[in-house]
Amino acid sequence: MSESKNPISFILKKPNAKPGRKPKEVWNFFTAIGEKKEGHRGCKCKYCPWSQTRGEPSSMEAHLALSCHKTPQDVKEKFLLIVKTRGESQTLQLEAAEIPSKKRKAGHQQLITKYGESNTIEPIKKQICDCTVAKFFICCRISFRLVEHPFFIDMVKSLCLGYDPPRANTLSQDFLYEELANIVVDQHLELKRTTNLTLGFDSWTSPLGQSLYAFVIMTPDRKEIIHCIKNLSANSHTANFLADQLNEVITEVGAENFAAVVSDHASACAAAKKRIAERYKHILPIRCIAHHVNLISTDICKTTFAKDVISKC
Ligand SMILES: [Zn+2]
Repeated sequence: MSESKNPISFILKKPNAKPGRKPKEVWNFFTAIGEKKEGHRGCKCKYCPWSQTRGEPSSMEAHLALSCHKTPQDVKEKFLLIVKTRGESQTLQLEAAEIPSKKRKAGHQQLITKYGESNTIEPIKKQICDCTVAKFFICCRISFRLVEHPFFIDMVKSLCLGYDPPRANTLSQDFLYEELANIVVDQHLELKRTTNLTLGFDSWTSPLGQSLYAFVIMTPDRKEIIHCIKNLSANSHTANFLADQLNEVITEVGAENFAAVVSDHASACAAAKKRIAERYKHILPIRCIAHHVNLISTDICKTTFAKDVISKC
């Protein structure tokens, strides 16, 4: 095979080219169009209608390699190699620029660890990285399987060479549980040392028809902590039953830490709050103002006046 027909030999010739100098072979696959402007002419692909008013070799190579559907396979492969090695050669150039010319030695091979990164990390750093990765996957709701994706590993390695991301199983079990445990312990400690807490509760029906109840504790500085979400589908939601549920939360945290319990004005909820207030004299039963504003707004919108105004909006 002659050198001119061998794509590999073409690639091998590239490093000898001057930095920044674009290969002109790509013009063999394009027709020059338009007038020359700022040293560039327009170009049109010989295989498809793709054209540019300013023919830049890098985008022309990328077109042949990646987006032209009519490029012959051998041409496509040739330019795929060129595009692929372009980034690598840029890295080599950056590396060369970093080395003072006086100190350069022929055949000196650079190690990746020279970029200030060691291929090992301290155990404490690994622990911090594990925790950060776990938080990212959990809080952003990203599939744990992605932690083993080659691109993710590549990204992590480029940021910290010595860090090996955990396996998906480790992430979805050990780390998830560990993170969950950390959160629960932190919340428990915070609630234990905070007074004037408000316990809010509300229910809704899930798409699966489950009757779910959320118990949320609000601190005086307006921080909201979800104490628990319970599936109470199997139970009859009487006032006594709901009062027992509220009492469980209150006794677990400490009755002396609470100042109020709040909910919407559903009859069972209102009666449950009343039972709590009777049992703990310092806990006030409070109506949810947002819920009442919602009810008031709905009633206002039903009036003829409001309907008339809304119809003109
Ligand atoms: Zn094309």
